[in-house]
Amino acid sequence: MEINPAAQNGEINPMTNCEQKNQKHKETSVFGKLEKHLEQAMAYQTALILIEWDNETLAPEQAGPYTARVQGTLSAAYQSVMTSSEVQKLLRQCEAESLSEQECAIVREAKEEMERLACIPPEEYRAYQELVSESTRIWAKAREDDDFDAFAPTLEKIISYQKKFASYRAKEGQKLYDVMLDSYEKGFDMEKLNEFFGKLKEELVPFLKKVMDSGVEIRDEFLTGAYPEEKQQELAHFLAEYVGFDFTKGVMAVSAHPFTTSLHNHDVRITTHYSDHVDSSLFSVIHEAGHGIYEMGVEDCLTQTLIGQGASMGMHESQSRFMENIVGRNGAFWVPVYQKLQEMFPDQLGDISREQFVEAVNKVQPGLIRTEADELCYSLHVLVRYELEKKLIEEDLDVKELPKLWADYYEKYLGVRPATDAQGVLQDIHWAQGSFGYFPSYALGSAFAAQMYAWMREHMDFEGLLRSGDIQAIVKVLGEHIHKYGKLKESRELLKAMTGEDFDPDYYIRYLKEKYGTLYHV
Ligand code: ZN
Repeated sequence: MEINPAAQNGEINPMTNCEQKNQKHKETSVFGKLEKHLEQAMAYQTALILIEWDNETLAPEQAGPYTARVQGTLSAAYQSVMTSSEVQKLLRQCEAESLSEQECAIVREAKEEMERLACIPPEEYRAYQELVSESTRIWAKAREDDDFDAFAPTLEKIISYQKKFASYRAKEGQKLYDVMLDSYEKGFDMEKLNEFFGKLKEELVPFLKKVMDSGVEIRDEFLTGAYPEEKQQELAHFLAEYVGFDFTKGVMAVSAHPFTTSLHNHDVRITTHYSDHVDSSLFSVIHEAGHGIYEMGVEDCLTQTLIGQGASMGMHESQSRFMENIVGRNGAFWVPVYQKLQEMFPDQLGDISREQFVEAVNKVQPGLIRTEADELCYSLHVLVRYELEKKLIEEDLDVKELPKLWADYYEKYLGVRPATDAQGVLQDIHWAQGSFGYFPSYALGSAFAAQMYAWMREHMDFEGLLRSGDIQAIVKVLGEHIHKYGKLKESRELLKAMTGEDFDPDYYIRYLKEKYGTLYHV
């Protein structure tokens, strides 16, 4: 069934950020003229997002190279609008105008995007887009066949494009990897991240060892088994909705690597996957729902503009990981919900108490796969990728060295060594998509989330709300402080405005040590 968008027009949204401007003024102003071009660019971007979604969920295997041509054309059209001389002229003129906060933020984003695109020759940009859309399929096949060599030449090409593009954008003396990091999380360059990851390494690697040597055994074998897929689907739907994902503005599909994408705040899409580990799909759904709720919470006046998405990758991960771990793996969360799980899976969970279930989903077990990592090990998986990316970009590491180095780092930090590339260097899609500099935002997001949690516990009965099933009260606070702003403000600014403090990684370390120290009596 199709829903006529006009049918949704009756909704009333509180628009605290939104400025009501006189329509006539809007059309004739310099900003109004710029907005028309940006709307066109946005339309191309929306089409590209939709094709990308389709590629990952429903498109047939052979569609790839054919669809890639369409993606190439659309990307070129997007680039041409964003970098046209008219847009460049309007952006310059806007600098002399008196603009509202919202307009200023849009101009700032448009200028950054224009500069990012204008420095890349159009043929190169187009060729790169085609390469990337092809490379994710090559990567998927290589992973399936456990064959890193089949992916290595493509990866090499992507890295060389990434370095070239970063060199176009680099300011005098700026390191290439810092340019890449900046596109995901402003204000966190290598200097800042070396300090952050250094702290995690120093505190968490020995703490993990203590936990593993504690002698505490947590049973979790009941999480694996014949969990019927239809039941898992039903559970996924229930949990997404329970934490606040609105299915009248969102959908859920299945993909190899769960992700969230958003066309605008009334069309947000999440994916999941099902396996015989029930907790894997369950927490992945809560995680993606966290991303989705963030996108749905962006105010109406900001959506479909350049500031209509989450503030940054790190802030996005803070919201998904907040939902997955701080909410979803919290014992209090399961008080109103666990009985339903037992009724859905009587053979698997009928004899398992809620306390046993909660301990099991928090079990620490150093493993090989980042997306299945427990909270304590998670940032160490990210640390491995951060150190390897630095080597690839700043030290020209040969991609052929990657599988061995990957395994060595896993052994050093997590005490486990992958036997195959599929379980090692080939597990993530990010490098195939050209997303270098993205990984650190996963760890930063977890740290942002812990800082928000510390603040929320001081200001509300957090666990009490979970016990009474009132997740909405928690979502509302996140919505008011974070979601509604979209990209209007930067992530560090939002975090500071909410918690009254600048970013402080100690909250994250304290949170992990307190939680797992209690669970493992260390
Ligand atoms: Zn995520």
